[in-house]
Amino acid sequence: MEPDTLWTRAGAAGWGTCAYADLLPHMDEHAQAKAEGLCPVPAGVYVAAFPYYAGETPGNLSRYARGEDYHTALARRLTPVCAALEAAHPFHKFVPLVDNSPLPEREAARLAGLGLRGKNGLVILPPWGSWLFLATVLTDLPLPSAPAASPDCMGCGACLAACPGKALGPNGFDISKCLSELTQRKGELTAEQTGLLRRHNLIWGCDACQTVCPYNRDVPITPLPEFRDGLLSTLTPKDVENSTRKQFQAAFPDRAFTWRGPGVLERNLKLKEEK
Ligand code: SF4
Ligand code: SF4
Repeated sequence: MEPDTLWTRAGAAGWGTCAYADLLPHMDEHAQAKAEGLCPVPAGVYVAAFPYYAGETPGNLSRYARGEDYHTALARRLTPVCAALEAAHPFHKFVPLVDNSPLPEREAARLAGLGLRGKNGLVILPPWGSWLFLATVLTDLPLPSAPAASPDCMGCGACLAACPGKALGPNGFDISKCLSELTQRKGELTAEQTGLLRRHNLIWGCDACQTVCPYNRDVPITPLPEFRDGLLSTLTPKDVENSTRKQFQAAFPDRAFTWRGPGVLERNLKLKEEK
């Protein structure tokens, strides 16, 4: 089967390839060792984008976390792709990777010429905007990078202006100030971080830099049912209070926030009440 057909059947809105060697300047030794542990002679990377925009329902969870846990959903979608690639190239290895991957996925997408590179660091793939999950397949089959890497977005700067924690600046991205990361962080927070969380409109994730992006206007609803149907947009105190990790996992078995347990979400909800 042609790779185009394979990826389309898997539900990808776009895909491309890059040479593993081109990623090396963006990987530290630990990431390289991890990649080589998964695929001893890595030579190429497939990278694909899966849209998840599901409309404008209000809620206190980031859009990416409202549907089925994307790790599970994309792993399921990558399985037949890897099986078909293995059948076509029986002497090569194909390792599906979603998110917790040693590969710098956004850089792989840029080298593959997939969409545009936003100033917020995200991949933008019209008409799906930046509401995308990226997934990769690492292989020892040599694959080329695109003749031209992805161009930059129009550079309007709206994402920088909208960033609540000033995590986005002219010098790049500071993850320690990103609300998406802060909403997931356990342990002691500084007074400044607590204030940011209290003023933030979500208890999990942050959509501010995506909501204002012009490429995210009039985006079609995802055709992928696991990100479109059965959505959970809001968690209430009742969902997390007096809940053990086990009870929380039983109540929300297939969501992207489940791994974190109820404690951090309860803290974030309480901060909102103190507003
Ligand atoms: S997710 Fe939120 S805090 Fe993080 S860079 Fe985007 S706007 Fe800033
Ligand atoms: S908001 Fe503007 S600068 Fe930021 S990613 Fe979108 S188009 Fe680019």
